[in-house]
Amino acid sequence: MSDKETREITLKGIGASPGICIGKAYLVDKAGVDVVKKYAIHESDLEKEKNRFRIAVKKAKDDLHALVENSHEDFREHADILETHVALLKDKMLYGKTIETIEKEGVNAEWALRKVVSDLQTLFRRMPDAYLRERAADVVHVSDPIMRNLMGADPANVKDIDKRVILVAADLSPAETSQIQLERIMGFVTDLGGMTSHTGIIARTLEIPAVLGLDDVTRRVQNEDLLVVDGTRGEMVIHPVEDTLVRFVRRRMAYEVRKATIMRGGHFPAQTLDGVTVQVMGNIELPEEVVSVRDHGGDGIGLYRTEFQYLSRPLFPSESELFEKYRDVVEVMAPQPVTIRTLDINGDKAIARHSETTEKNPALGLRGIRYCLKEADVFKTQIRAILRAAAFGNVRILFPMVSTYDEILEAKRMLDEAAESLDREGAKFDRNVAIGMMIEVPSVAIMADIMAKEVDFFSIGTNDLIQYTLAIDRGNRHVSHLYQPLHPAIIRMLRQVSDAARENGVGVFICGEMAGEPIHAPVLLGLGMTELSMNPQSIPSVKRMVRSVNTEDAREMITDILREATAEGVRRVLQAACGDLMRDP
Ligand code: PEP
Ligand code: MG
Repeated sequence: MSDKETREITLKGIGASPGICIGKAYLVDKAGVDVVKKYAIHESDLEKEKNRFRIAVKKAKDDLHALVENSHEDFREHADILETHVALLKDKMLYGKTIETIEKEGVNAEWALRKVVSDLQTLFRRMPDAYLRERAADVVHVSDPIMRNLMGADPANVKDIDKRVILVAADLSPAETSQIQLERIMGFVTDLGGMTSHTGIIARTLEIPAVLGLDDVTRRVQNEDLLVVDGTRGEMVIHPVEDTLVRFVRRRMAYEVRKATIMRGGHFPAQTLDGVTVQVMGNIELPEEVVSVRDHGGDGIGLYRTEFQYLSRPLFPSESELFEKYRDVVEVMAPQPVTIRTLDINGDKAIARHSETTEKNPALGLRGIRYCLKEADVFKTQIRAILRAAAFGNVRILFPMVSTYDEILEAKRMLDEAAESLDREGAKFDRNVAIGMMIEVPSVAIMADIMAKEVDFFSIGTNDLIQYTLAIDRGNRHVSHLYQPLHPAIIRMLRQVSDAARENGVGVFICGEMAGEPIHAPVLLGLGMTELSMNPQSIPSVKRMVRSVNTEDAREMITDILREATAEGVRRVLQAACGDLMRDP
């Protein structure tokens, strides 16, 4: 390696999960499939090249068959999707055309396949029939494994990580994250992503230091490089020299001591100076994270994101699989509440089974409750599992991405139907679950007084509410400076939702990442919220902040805040009112 490659480099990104780690890099290399080179094949080698392609297709076919064989028997009925893919592999348009292109143009198989797939996509997309348009996505799905076989790229290298490493990736989709053995990961660094991207959320939940949005870190880092990741400051160092390492080891010690001090207070109730008890709850994505919520002193699960069980698998989970997972969480937390949110797939949490990934604008597409109301069987399976788990503890059900009044009525009707079917079957279940809706689309925030008549509680999802209100893609680092939880428009919207909830006697909770920042607590309490849910590791520090707040003062502060025109102005008012509270312990 040259001097240049080993000199120390410091990079600044977004500190998405605090803490410091020092370790070796593991580069998630997706480039294998993306960078396809074109080269000429000599006429005498054309047959060999065509054979290389045939072998790659055969392997892809065998792998698909194995996937069908190994799938759980409950899912066999859905195996038709995979069978469609097998059929597509043999399809003349894909198979025949690629062979023809290799031969006619005298090019390598990878290039020929890439060209044929791209032509087919264009062709399908132009078709007026929606079904045929969707087949474009299937063509890409089936061509991916062939391409990987041709290029010798490892399809799921993240699955096989067998030592403690710092993961370096362009970006990680929830599907990829769900394949990683997260206990092996010391830290995350990525080119893309931000605070509220799913890599950020998972990293915080699992207390893995993360610096995201680094732009081109995958280009600068090589496998096995020594790295320092400081998620607290949003900084990372490649090839640290001795002095740098010493400095970061000291910082890491100071961080651990501070964290331990805060952690100790996690198990005491969060009561304000004037005696208001606030429920400080945890958000989880995976059932196993429930332990972390308990360890950090959470008063319950304020948000159980259930989509992860649907990702990275060809077929959806069965009712019994879902029920068992939910029951485990509910039993561990009982008698404290577990708020199970129904599927919020698509948007940024695209699934492999369907081809909605081809939506041009997935954040505004068939996401959350919209998807579930369309796929009634998928939705009913999940609701039945939730109602059955409810018999084992304290369950609340939460519907995501509601944007119209009809959607909530329809979701409730399906809940009734699910309960009736369980009743008819004589199954053990509990119908008396509290029903809530996420407030994360401006339309329902504005209509909160009407929506309040239909539910028992609101849970405000600020991650999306900010995205949709301020028109800021939550995962786009180019606009991350505009993603401001303290923007006056957001505060006013929270105020409106909170007032409507109080006037109608329904609960108003918050589960977006905004709730996990201790400095936001005085604002949220001033707005009248008494339940905050967040990544588990933030629970102790938010509880600590709650104990320093007087809700009367906080309400007065809100009056001042509501006069402000900018997020900066709001922050100034907050600083003036709570400056002392903002200092580290
Ligand atoms: C939110 O939007 O604030 C939220 C909690 O949901 P998610 O982050 O899963 O979209
Ligand atoms: Mg959301």
